[in-house]
Amino acid sequence: MQLLKDRIREEGVVVKDSLLKVDSFLNHQIDPQLMMKLGEEFALRFKNNNVTRILTIESSGIAIAIMVGFILRVPVVFARKRKSAVCNDDVYSTQVYSFTKKESNNVTVSANLLKAEDNIMIIDDFLANGEAALGLANIAEQAGAHVVGIGIVIEKAFQPGAEKLREAGYRVESLVRIASFSNGKVNYV
Ligand code: 5GP
Repeated sequence: MQLLKDRIREEGVVVKDSLLKVDSFLNHQIDPQLMMKLGEEFALRFKNNNVTRILTIESSGIAIAIMVGFILRVPVVFARKRKSAVCNDDVYSTQVYSFTKKESNNVTVSANLLKAEDNIMIIDDFLANGEAALGLANIAEQAGAHVVGIGIVIEKAFQPGAEKLREAGYRVESLVRIASFSNGKVNYV
């Protein structure tokens, strides 16, 4: 998606040749107009899949997931990384190792928010080793729901996540696919 490549070129910062920092429009400050454009693209790609619910993980997936949910007119559920005092005990949960924070989180979703008859679209900002997306798919499947696919804003194709997800049978739709970083520059697939 050219619009996203342009923003990454203008504002992205490559950190240690494995991480892309996009804090000015996606991960810290959020550009709502851009999020809507990305949401429109995801909605278009999944418009024939009878999506009934979007599932993402806090926090950076939420902004983009809301745009998709708004367009497809379906609710957006986000998995929590920390236990909330107001969250009931009836939850689906799984362990997710965070690529950026280098820690494992027990990720949870209240059981009453996902239904066995749901067609769930998973959304996340980045795909690296696939831990977050596989964790979300696992939670959807604990509910007995069907995962129609996984929408990723920025796939780092040099890491094994996308391959793992496709091997597990999931449809993966990435808006941009990064082949490598070199000398602070982003090279696309
Ligand atoms: P995975 O679970 O696929 O290993 O990593 C994906 C998660 O790690 C995303 O939810 C995202 O928050 C974070 N992440 C992975 N790689 C990057 C990156 O290059 N930049 C940023 N900002 N976050 C990343």
